[in-house]
Amino acid sequence: MAQIMIEWHAMHDDKACLICKLLDNYVWVFDTKDNPLDASLTHPQFGVVWDMHGGSMAHGHEDMGSCRCNMTWEIDFSDTKKMIAELREQMVEGLRGIK
Ligand SMILES: [Zn+2]
Ligand SMILES: [Zn+2]
Repeated sequence: MAQIMIEWHAMHDDKACLICKLLDNYVWVFDTKDNPLDASLTHPQFGVVWDMHGGSMAHGHEDMGSCRCNMTWEIDFSDTKKMIAELREQMVEGLRGIK
């Protein structure tokens, strides 16, 4: 299991609208088992702001393309690493028992 974190980045200039500015640095966290690649991103205040097929919806469904925001993806495997470490511990314990 791993977590995927998606962070929204707005352009930091005068042309960026208020919605995009407010979305800046907003982070969504998904568990890999939820299949996030098939999802759209929803913001509690602005609703669906990104759709897999249409891209950014920050300016509404009629205006897709004027938004210059981008997103960064990060995958957190720390849960997986912890799980593997625990499994290894259990194996070591188990092997000790065999002796
Ligand atoms: Zn905007
Ligand atoms: Zn934007």
